[in-house]
Amino acid sequence: MSISENYRILQAKLPEEVTLVAISKNKTNEEILELYECGQREFGENKVQELTAKHESLPDDIRWHMVGHLQSNKVKYIAPFIGMIHSVDSLKLLKIINKEAKKNDRIIPCLLQLHIAEEDTKFGLSYEEACNLLEQDDYKAMENISIIGLMGMATFTDDTVQIHKEFKQLKESFDKIKTSYFLDNQLFCELSMGMSDDFLIGVEEGSTLVRVGTALFGER
Ligand SMILES: *Cc1c(COP(=O)(O)O)cnc(C)c1O
Repeated sequence: MSISENYRILQAKLPEEVTLVAISKNKTNEEILELYECGQREFGENKVQELTAKHESLPDDIRWHMVGHLQSNKVKYIAPFIGMIHSVDSLKLLKIINKEAKKNDRIIPCLLQLHIAEEDTKFGLSYEEACNLLEQDDYKAMENISIIGLMGMATFTDDTVQIHKEFKQLKESFDKIKTSYFLDNQLFCELSMGMSDDFLIGVEEGSTLVRVGTALFGER
């Protein structure tokens, strides 16, 4: 099936209020432009080098999302243009994002990545660590980042009961953090959960952003 057919099928399954972030890692500019021609404007990558190269060579009205693990020393390359960083997993990283955003006179929207999977290979904060971060004076003083929600990746498994459980847990963490730290802040409203194999479960459990690669572009 073509990319545009995949796109139409996928959009038909997504409620209107859920945003599709097309994960274009390892995909060519031609493939990305085919999706762009369908109207897609939100694209995500997991590596800084590929992200900056694509940003430079593709249309300016694409909003780029960083979804992979981000090293502090690479923040400066994406700070001038990045639309959202999904993978903030430490106060140290957040400080650097804030500093680089300030240099560019921008406010960068960020999500805190929570660890919800069974595998210990996936990055992310525990719920307690996220709360701890949000209570730090250093965080409260930051003027060039905006924490607008949470992101998480479920265990890589066929067990849909397990995936439901993990996403439900992430939504509960989101609700508690919203109540404790962002009650008067309308910006904290995003929950990034769900990929090609589990985005429908993510949507059922309250996702507002799904990060889909393979189901759009096909296997490579
Ligand atoms: C690759 C990737 C995705 C998309 O995965 P698919 O299974 O191809 O849909 C989503 N989120 C992150 C963080 C990724 O690295």
